[in-house]
Amino acid sequence: MDEVLNSTLRTAVYGRLNYLDTIVGEADKESKSALADTVITQMTGAWRELLEAHEPDERGRCRACSPWRLLGRADCTVWRTAHRHLITDAAERPAATGKATGRHHFRPATPTSS
Ligand SMILES: [Zn+2]
Repeated sequence: MDEVLNSTLRTAVYGRLNYLDTIVGEADKESKSALADTVITQMTGAWRELLEAHEPDERGRCRACSPWRLLGRADCTVWRTAHRHLITDAAERPAATGKATGRHHFRPATPTSS
């Protein structure tokens, strides 16, 4: 049952991301602007919630990525990904031109297993 639920959840999330990519690539400026009003807030909320779940403890270790039983210090992939997408890639991205150029644009509608 969990497998079916997880599959349904993943399909719904990928479907939403694909929809948003399509809007960014094909919608007119007014539609994009209207969508941005809600989606930016949703995305920042999602990032904050995800980052909160991966806040480092007093030793600088992420409880989610490096459980207590591991002696070594595992890097938190969530924080590295957040930094790459929100800071590094944003600094390298040209100013908005109205055209979608993101690397995740137009992903296949069916999620791939990983
Ligand atoms: Zn983590």
